[in-house]
Amino acid sequence: MSISDGTDRRWWFIAAALVVLLTLVLAAGGIVMAVQQGRAVRQARIRGLRDRAEIVSTQLQNELNRLASRHLGEIYRAFQRQDDVALNRLASADAWIELAFVYDKWVLMTWPAITVARSERSHEAFAPPGFGLGEQLEFVDHNLDEAIKLYQRCTSEATPLYWQLRAHMAIAGCRSKQGRFDEAIQIYERLRTRYAAVLRSLDSPSLFSVNLALVDVLAAADERARAGEAAEELLRDVLDGQVPLPAREYADLLVHRLAQLTNRLPEEIEGARRQLAAIADRQHHLAGAASVVRTWMEPRLDPPLGAEERGVQFVAETLGARPRLLAYQRFERSGAEILVGLCIHMETLYETFVAPRVRTAGHGDLILRPNELTPPSAAESWAQVLAMPLQAWQLQPASGFVDRVDREVRRQTWTYVGLTGLAVTVLMAALAALVTAVRREMALTRLKNEFVANVSHELKTPLALIRLFGETLLYGRAPSEEKRREYYSVITRESERLTHLINNILDFSRIDAGHKRYRRVACDLGQIVGQTIESYRFQLDHQGFDLGVEIEPDLPPVLADADAVSQALLNLLNNAVKYSADEKWVEVRVARASRDGRDGMTVSVADRGVGIPVEERDRLFEGFFRGSDNKVRQIRGSGLGLTLVRHIVTGHEGEVWVASEVGQGSTFTIFLPRAEARSPGET
Ligand code: ADP
Repeated sequence: MSISDGTDRRWWFIAAALVVLLTLVLAAGGIVMAVQQGRAVRQARIRGLRDRAEIVSTQLQNELNRLASRHLGEIYRAFQRQDDVALNRLASADAWIELAFVYDKWVLMTWPAITVARSERSHEAFAPPGFGLGEQLEFVDHNLDEAIKLYQRCTSEATPLYWQLRAHMAIAGCRSKQGRFDEAIQIYERLRTRYAAVLRSLDSPSLFSVNLALVDVLAAADERARAGEAAEELLRDVLDGQVPLPAREYADLLVHRLAQLTNRLPEEIEGARRQLAAIADRQHHLAGAASVVRTWMEPRLDPPLGAEERGVQFVAETLGARPRLLAYQRFERSGAEILVGLCIHMETLYETFVAPRVRTAGHGDLILRPNELTPPSAAESWAQVLAMPLQAWQLQPASGFVDRVDREVRRQTWTYVGLTGLAVTVLMAALAALVTAVRREMALTRLKNEFVANVSHELKTPLALIRLFGETLLYGRAPSEEKRREYYSVITRESERLTHLINNILDFSRIDAGHKRYRRVACDLGQIVGQTIESYRFQLDHQGFDLGVEIEPDLPPVLADADAVSQALLNLLNNAVKYSADEKWVEVRVARASRDGRDGMTVSVADRGVGIPVEERDRLFEGFFRGSDNKVRQIRGSGLGLTLVRHIVTGHEGEVWVASEVGQGSTFTIFLPRAEARSPGET
């Protein structure tokens, strides 16, 4: 099978086209998959963040529960120890705790201590029998002794604490009216020390009013100095937060007493007034919190709640302007239940508790938003509402996160696409190189095939002639002496032709294997050319060629391998003879010349033969190349002659080129540089 066969070539190109097509289809599939994978990665990343948000939500819930439970337990224990300092500390342990509170039966106590406006479920409804009668005796009948007796019955342990305190206050009031100031003073002193904790959270009687009553009774008892001291002490306690101000007006009362009973200068009085006013404002704010506690907690006090409410409970609602959260828990205290709670300021809880944890756990990928905001946009795709009791907020992916994921996915997709493109390009380039190589290989194989055919022919013809004339001579069949001479000359010419051909082939194979070396010595180019022409002259004359030779005299020497140069010239002469048609004319010229700044000589061989088409001129010197023209094809040749010429010339640091015109003839010129003052050698 011949590889140069047209069908084969067609199959080869169909296969290459199929490979290209398949590669493109696979590449397109790869790109589609990369895009799809990019989308899947994006969704997975956003879903993954949602899982993280869920974990964050649960963690926040657990932590808040744990913290609240610990706080509530500690408040309960401090309350049992009656440790006011610890209670105040616990109430400010975290920025988000506004108030700590304890419900002991119906009595609400708070830390920081504030008086609380009376709840709707007034204590009046639980007034002990006898108290109302006592008030009647005191205020209507002015029978103070009888009134005191009735009041005293209300001071027993069986009476609710609130009514015990009211009874003590009433007794002190009666004693004061009777002028028995010492007893009144004693009662007030006992109340302000022993019942401070309870009185702090009541607005009537309040710890403040007990202290103020003490000041007044001391003043009434003419103990001005002690009264002044008591007023100063009350001021200090109010400023320290030990005694809450029930209302703004109470501040004015205290300022009035200070002015009356102490030696304070007017500007000092004014200073105290301003300080008290600021405290009253703060108390007012806290009173708001306390009233929230009341509104939410009191419905939960009665009836006692079931066992299911044992742990920490949360109530989260917005009442008034500020959203608040109540955390509370029930405890047993000598058989009775008390309720311990925290009033939590939601906005501060958000800023100091929730937001920092979300920032840490979410690495900036999660954002916290109030729950009632518009639902998340498509890009963010989800919102995770925080677990109870933080359901006022929700978590969403930060827009930066979505952008970053988009960017990363895009980069990844483009990388895949780029790599696929690169792979396709490399594959195409490899395929193109392969196609070129195969084409070249095909062309070379074709040339070699032709070469084999040509050479066989070249060998066969002279051998047949030599044999024919040899046998004729051997058997004495030559008719005349003249014929015999002619037969001898044919045998000589054909054997020369064989030698020439075999030399060319051997030289070419040496060159091909890289073994060919030239032994260059200084010699006279004119002489080499002259001798070569002489050896060839017979052939030219015999074929009727008109030969012109022009050799410039006194040529400088060249460094040359005389045999090689002679062979090159012979090849050119041979071609000139072979490719001449009707006009049998050959001219050889040797002249001085310079090329690219180098001095030397040119040998040119001109003919008026078939000429060489422009498109073939570049390839003339390639191995096995033969002209495509029909006239050329009919002439015997191996396609090696010019290849050898070029190799010889290049081995002599020279050049060879051709000028030609189709139908007019060709001139091949060899340039050889002149010998420099340099030792001869091998190249
Ligand atoms: P061959 O002569 O054996 O074919 P060569 O290498 O000597 O091989 O020449 C290569 C080709 O160059 C020839 O086949 C021919 O087409 C072209 N050629 C060489 N010399 C001449 C010339 N003097 N005139 C026209 N064509 C030439």
